[in-house]
Order: sequence, then C-alpha cells, then structure tokens
Amino acid sequence: MRRTQEEPASHAPASPPPASPAPASPAPARDGSPATAHTLLRAHLVAMIRDDGPVSRSELSRAIGLPRSTTTALVAELLREGLITEAPARGGGVGSGSGRPATLLSLRKPDGLVAGFDFGHRHIRVAVATKEGQILAEESTQLDVDRQAADALECAADLLHAVLESAGVPLSEVRAAAAGIPAPLSSRTGRVGSPTILASWVDLDPGEELRRRTGLPCILGNDAAFGALGEMTHGAARDLRDFIYVKASNGIGAALVLNGRLYRGSQGMAGEIGHTQIDPTGAWCRCGNRGCLEATVSIDVVRRQLEPLGLDPLNPEDMEHPVATKVLAESGRTVGVVIANLCNTLNPEAVILGGDLASTGAHFTDGVRDSVRHLAQPGPALDTSVLPTSLQGRAELLGAVVRAAAAPQTMLPV
Ligand SMILES: [Zn+2]
Repeated sequence: MRRTQEEPASHAPASPPPASPAPASPAPARDGSPATAHTLLRAHLVAMIRDDGPVSRSELSRAIGLPRSTTTALVAELLREGLITEAPARGGGVGSGSGRPATLLSLRKPDGLVAGFDFGHRHIRVAVATKEGQILAEESTQLDVDRQAADALECAADLLHAVLESAGVPLSEVRAAAAGIPAPLSSRTGRVGSPTILASWVDLDPGEELRRRTGLPCILGNDAAFGALGEMTHGAARDLRDFIYVKASNGIGAALVLNGRLYRGSQGMAGEIGHTQIDPTGAWCRCGNRGCLEATVSIDVVRRQLEPLGLDPLNPEDMEHPVATKVLAESGRTVGVVIANLCNTLNPEAVILGGDLASTGAHFTDGVRDSVRHLAQPGPALDTSVLPTSLQGRAELLGAVVRAAAAPQTMLPV
C-alpha cells in the first residue's frame, strides 16, 4: 500500500497547508526543495475539493489565499491527471454569480466497492457498498469502544471480512474505506483531538491502524459529521442547506451544516455540544468537567433510570411505559436546552436527531422540540423543524460509505 503525495497520511483530514498561509506567488517548480511547497499546495487543494466540494476556482483561491492564476494552474494540473472533475454550476448554486458561469470542481470517485466503519462508544457497524452507495452487506456488534481501542480496531477488521464474505466479494474489489469515530478529530493530526474523550485512542493513528489491519486506505471522520453526510445523501436533510445533526447515544455530538457545508471549526473539532455544562454541581463527565450535557443525558443514563422497572430503552414497547415516556421526554427537554441556544446562534432550517436516544420513539424528539419552541427566540424557533432521523440508526454508517466513495483516486492501493 502506498501513501501518495496527495494524501500524505491515510487519515481523513488531509495534512494542513504549511504552517503559515499559502504563499501568494505562483506555484514553484516541481524539482528540488520548492517541489515540497508545490506538493503541499496540491495536497491542500485536493483536501479542500474533497472536503468542501463541489467548489469553484474562485472559492478555492479565496480560501487558500492564492492568486486566481496560481489556483487555475494547479487545478488544470489536477484535471489533466484525472484526480478531479468539473461540471457546470447549477443555477443559483455555489460558485455561480455574475459574469461567466462558474464550473464546480469535485474529486473523481474511485471505481469499485467501498467500505464504511461506524464506531460508536458501545458499538461497531461495518458495511461494504457500491460506490453509488448501495449496501451489499452489513454487520454490527456491541463493544466498549471507549476503553478497548485495539480490540475495537481488530473487531472492525474481522467484521469487514465477515461482510465481504456475506456479499461474496473479495477484498481486492474494495478500493477505499472511511471510519466514523465518536470523538473530536484534529484536522492537524488526524488523531483524536481530546485527551479525555475516547482516551484509549489518543496515542493511536486510527486511520493507519485500520489500514494496517484491513489493507485499505481509510479516511477518518467524526461520527456526527458522517451522520450529517448520511442524512444529506439518503435521509431527512436531502433538501437542506442549514441544519444541525445531533447524535445522541452514549455521548452527544453535533455536526453543523451551514450553507450546504460541514462547519469544522479552526481545528476540525466543532460540534462537541455534549460537553456544554448545564449544571455546575452535576455529575462528573468523562472530559473532567462537571454537569456536562452528556453526563446528564445519555442512553446509559436512561437505561440506569429504567432498569429497576425492567425496561429496556432499545425496546420500543417498553418505551411506552408511563415512566419511560417521562424519562425520555425529560431527557429530550434537557438536550433541547442546548439545541435551543444553538438555534439562536445559527438559525438552522432543521435539527435532525440521530443515535440511540432518537431511536427510542417520539417522546425524546417531542422533548427536544418542546425546549426549542419554548427557549429559542420566536424567530429562529418558529421556522426550525425538529425531526428524528429516518435512517434507523444507520446515518453514520451510510455517511461513512458516502465519504469512502468520494475518496480521491490517490487513495487507491497500487
Ligand atoms: Zn464533558
């Protein structure tokens, strides 16, 4: 397996540009030491097209801080090599404007099959799919992913072989993989960006570990971000440009999609709403603070509350028990307090709820909706829909498949 110039590491967030902003001069020649700068610029352009695409040349120029002529030359190089493709912008879409109609640049999709990995705090799901997103086979298992990183990675590799066997396809037909991880991922290092969340993973390069175990180049992403991608492609967000996807399971994370694009923040770690403090004297959280949202509300907390009654939160019938409906509605209202504040800040079209808590039925979603209606300002709240996922807990897995299918040709094994 090779590492390519365009993807210097096998993890998803491609290497950032040089520490300082890209030089505002034409790209250097490709020999000698200046070639390094050229290679880094190419890598940065490829990463931007992959992560933010489809994008126009002018958007790339602005974002990377290069003159339009330099960007155009680099784009022409990538087009000649078949790494990217271009298509006319649709009316009113990104990149269109006055003057000559813009064309939008995308990464060329790999041929063959792709694999998706969804790591939750307590589960692993794996699928093999066509590059168009049709799932051929899928497997899942329960595991303490937080505390057993090595076991989780081994288990994921085993599940991949199981789904390949189920689908009746050899590994050699799978061209790329993507894995969603339930932790903030640093766009600078491609590793878990917090020493306290998913602590057993902090010293690992998960993309490289998966590549070593599966033989596949593997893109990493945050699980909620992949959930949002799944919803945008297959679910409730297909026609949305501004929405918040919330994965509420053992942890609570969010993906912020603004103007049709995932907002990652300066280091790729935006959306950690589970660590919003809602009670300064509340329970200790895994992050080291007290009273975080996810220390107060999670599927584990609900399970512990209902256990004395013999109720299982993953059993829909049990969740109609009068006590369960109260516990779920209250959980939803608590999550909704944080979401209401986000609605005031971002004014999204919709909030889409995923994860195990959203799969318990309508009471959790109703609770979130109550808080948004009562606590967000009337303007933002009035137009914001609060919806459960329509993907039955598979948004993250489907998003990983979509992400793998969008992998550049440069990710392919030799
Ligand atoms: Zn916390």
